[in-house]
Amino acid sequence: MSEYHDFDHFGLDPRIVAAVKAMGYTRPTPIQSKAIPLVLRGRDVMGAAQTGTGKTAGFALPIIHRLLPQANTSASPARHPVRALILAPTRELADQVAENVRMYIAGTPLRCATVYGGVDMEPQTQALRQGAEIVVATPGRLLDHLQQKNTSLSQVQAVVLDEADRMLDMGFLPDISRILNQLPRERQSLMFSATFSEEIKKLAANFLRDPVLVEVAQRNAAADTVQQELYRVHESEKTAALLELLRSRGLRQVLVFVNTKIGCRRLARELVKNGVNADAIHGDKSQDERMKALEGFKQGTIDVLVATDVAARGLDIAELPAVINYDVPYAPEDYVHRIGRTGRAGASGLAMTLATGAEDRAVAAIERLIKRPIEVKTLDLKRGRGERPPRFRERAEAHGRSAAAERRHAVAAAPRPTADDIFSKPYEPAAAGKAAEAEEQAPAAGKKPAKVAALLGGGKR
Ligand code: AMP
Repeated sequence: MSEYHDFDHFGLDPRIVAAVKAMGYTRPTPIQSKAIPLVLRGRDVMGAAQTGTGKTAGFALPIIHRLLPQANTSASPARHPVRALILAPTRELADQVAENVRMYIAGTPLRCATVYGGVDMEPQTQALRQGAEIVVATPGRLLDHLQQKNTSLSQVQAVVLDEADRMLDMGFLPDISRILNQLPRERQSLMFSATFSEEIKKLAANFLRDPVLVEVAQRNAAADTVQQELYRVHESEKTAALLELLRSRGLRQVLVFVNTKIGCRRLARELVKNGVNADAIHGDKSQDERMKALEGFKQGTIDVLVATDVAARGLDIAELPAVINYDVPYAPEDYVHRIGRTGRAGASGLAMTLATGAEDRAVAAIERLIKRPIEVKTLDLKRGRGERPPRFRERAEAHGRSAAAERRHAVAAAPRPTADDIFSKPYEPAAAGKAAEAEEQAPAAGKKPAKVAALLGGGKR
């Protein structure tokens, strides 16, 4: 099935092929090679893949292709009913999926609307009322719009549950089943999940019809390109050590991971006090604040983004030159996930971890998982005191490069270590990681997970 080495051979509409080429995609990723032909044939698919594997294009491109015969330039909303529905667990993920979909449909008359909570309903209402063939939504807000009759799902031909495991973890199952009840029975259904709990299997059994299982390994760019370093520090030295790493390496566009929301806020404040362009992203921030921080980070106006695992999961921030673990993650699998943020899409990267004596056991667990020791490095914490690191723009100007060129230069300059097969396994969060995640998500979601079979009536559709 993986004989597809370019986008010309799937039989996709030329407008779609042109769009992906314009986005710089040259070769399909493994999930795209496997999923695109199946979805094109109208099959239901259960995809075992997480963000970063290219799964969005894997389901979106063939769905768009199948919608194109009905695409039209009419101004009438009635000519643009919802034909494809993509459900996602978070606002950030919905935004990212929609952003990609909009680029894939750029050369067609198809329309895409995004719907998620935490922001004003009115602009979403208008977009839905004007008509959009593709709707990307988080479940709760979509239900609000359905209740207000801002849209109808009666003509949906294809539905995607993206990151289904996270949606269940966040307690969205009742909302999902209410939405599924409003869809036509004759439809194509796709489901993507990074993990396969019993609940996910039950949901799949109820939701999918004769599905094909498509499994791919985590994109293994990280394995070839991430240099991993460990710095042993005292708890009281952590912030100084972080500042020294930023200064001595001249690092910009760095994602710094912490284990708690409180720690996240505190560290971002400390960094700002020390003259670093930093912001925080965690579950307690408003949607506006999170999007502003993410946008600033992507644009290069924010150099350091401090994040918790949950807030960072699903964020599409590619080709980061570096990630720093200010705290060693509770679950070793989260370490792999965190460092996968750097070195994505073939770019090289650097992953640095600050560890106190109290975190030794967590470090040992990570080393067991990745089957090698992390190189221990030392820092001279006195040398850098009082010096502010040059800002990204200042460095760019000093080198006569654009900010984007400067970032590419930083990425290219990072060293390339050897591969490790942990990166070729699908991500499975450990119990400890899940507990931390639940703690982080509970206040934001405000809902309790429910049993799958009971809510879906336990029967096949
Ligand atoms: P996803 O796993 O869908 O979130 O995709 C992760 C990132 O990879 C996104 O920035 C996509 O735009 C990008 N991407 C997806 N497919 C390809 C491809 N075939 N070649 C290069 N980049 C891709």
